[in-house]
Amino acid sequence: MVLAGHEERVVDGVAKRLLIGGEWRDPASGATLKVEDPSTGSVLCEVADAGTEDAFAALDAAGRVQPTWAKHPPRERGEILRRGYELLMQRQEDLALLMTLEMGKPLAESRGEVAYAADFLRWFAEEAVRIEGSYSMAPNGQARFLVMRQPVGPCMLITPWNFPMAMGARKIGPAIAAGCTAILKPAPQTPLSALALAEILQEAGVPEGVLSVLPTSSAGAVTEPLLRDGRIRKVSFTGSTGVGRMLLEQSAEHVLRTSMELGGNAPFLVFDDADVDAAVEGAMQAKMRNIGEACTAANRLYAQSGIAPEFARRLSERMGALTVGRGTQEGVQVGPLIDAKAREKVQHLVDDAVNRGAKVMVGGEPGDGAGYFYRPTVLSDVPQESELSGTEIFGPVAPIIPFQSEEEALADANDTEYGLVSYVYTSDLNRALRVSEALETGMVGLNQGIVSNPAAPFGGIKHSGLGREGGRVGIEEFLETKYIGIGGV
Ligand code: NAP
Repeated sequence: MVLAGHEERVVDGVAKRLLIGGEWRDPASGATLKVEDPSTGSVLCEVADAGTEDAFAALDAAGRVQPTWAKHPPRERGEILRRGYELLMQRQEDLALLMTLEMGKPLAESRGEVAYAADFLRWFAEEAVRIEGSYSMAPNGQARFLVMRQPVGPCMLITPWNFPMAMGARKIGPAIAAGCTAILKPAPQTPLSALALAEILQEAGVPEGVLSVLPTSSAGAVTEPLLRDGRIRKVSFTGSTGVGRMLLEQSAEHVLRTSMELGGNAPFLVFDDADVDAAVEGAMQAKMRNIGEACTAANRLYAQSGIAPEFARRLSERMGALTVGRGTQEGVQVGPLIDAKAREKVQHLVDDAVNRGAKVMVGGEPGDGAGYFYRPTVLSDVPQESELSGTEIFGPVAPIIPFQSEEEALADANDTEYGLVSYVYTSDLNRALRVSEALETGMVGLNQGIVSNPAAPFGGIKHSGLGREGGRVGIEEFLETKYIGIGGV
């Protein structure tokens, strides 16, 4: 059990101002925004609320230091990230508590996210010194080609509330490794984790102006003028498809490089030949990580008719046994949803499926208490045409849709504009490969329920996004290719 005094100390310990040009400043307007604890609905604290004037101050700083930062030795850029990794891990416990307080996930998951965020810094620390080019002869032998990589320039980074530290680290890590300056706009629900990350990176040696952080209650007023300014050269966004599409339109004016990690609608396919223990375990991870509030969350669980009843029964037992409560409490496995609106949406999707004939195996209603709790829910016999099969649920609801044949499962799984991740459980190797190839998603979890890993290329296709974060390609998103043609051979 975490003591209230400790909670106060970790919240008090965060710089609640704007980070601009290496200084912690109050916003020009003096405004603040309130940060809520979603497990109680009460206000945790207030933080500085940036406006357009502050955004331009951050842009001035980013533009001013960009040329020198681009020349900063790659090894030293890497060492800064490595120190950031170590500091995050040293302070994992307090950072996890801070994250749980503002976002709601249980402490064990927050610890996991701090480690995940740190791992992005470690991964990109290692990548900073591996930015390579090439030297070759032109095919006609009359010139030489020198190909080099250079940082794209100042970047606008926009992150959501569901992974408040890892989504920032996943963007800041490669930006710093590549030699780009960056302005981070965290989600207004969860600015504390982002501010704490920035403070740690400052302590790790990020020079002034290289990273600015602008919490704001008016996202458009901070980001749009910068995207339309011309000095920002890249926008990296994680969030919903609707907002991503709008940012792409804004980015068109100055033809910005873009990385878009957008919404998901992951199908989770369980074939009759699957190991049912593994499938249930994988479904628990794919569904319940982050209270179901993950872009990678299994949104539609397709179970073949031979295995569907047992899969549904066993998944319901596991879901029904989960402990719901405030994430700071010992033994709690499921925290609250982020706000009342999120919970209303989940209830609406459950009601719609039930009205169309789905059966509630477990849950199906809000949890107790003042926070935005929702009971872990399994719905069986869900018709494919239910609203939830086309909508990101973003909550602890597992809808099971039965299917007969592989062709039918694939057609239903691909029947969505999203294409982030899918999951497949089967013990037939040929089927595993055939189905993985046919699924229209950027990632596939094959007999595993989690795909996120800093060393792997994370990202989606179709309306789930553009570009990849992590893996060897993660840094590429922050680099331009320059070719120098050398004559006089
Ligand atoms: P969201 O509403 O799109 O917000 C994401 C971020 O964009 C927030 O910081 C938000 O700030 C900002 N934003 C909203 N409107 C903006 C505008 N007009 N200009 C600039 N910024 C703007 O998404 P969310 O509800 O926070 O997050 C959930 C979504 O993120 C889901 O769709 C989920 O699938 C997706 N996600 C994707 C990934 C991935 O890697 N593919 C990972 C995690 C989450 P405000 O709240 O102030 O508007």
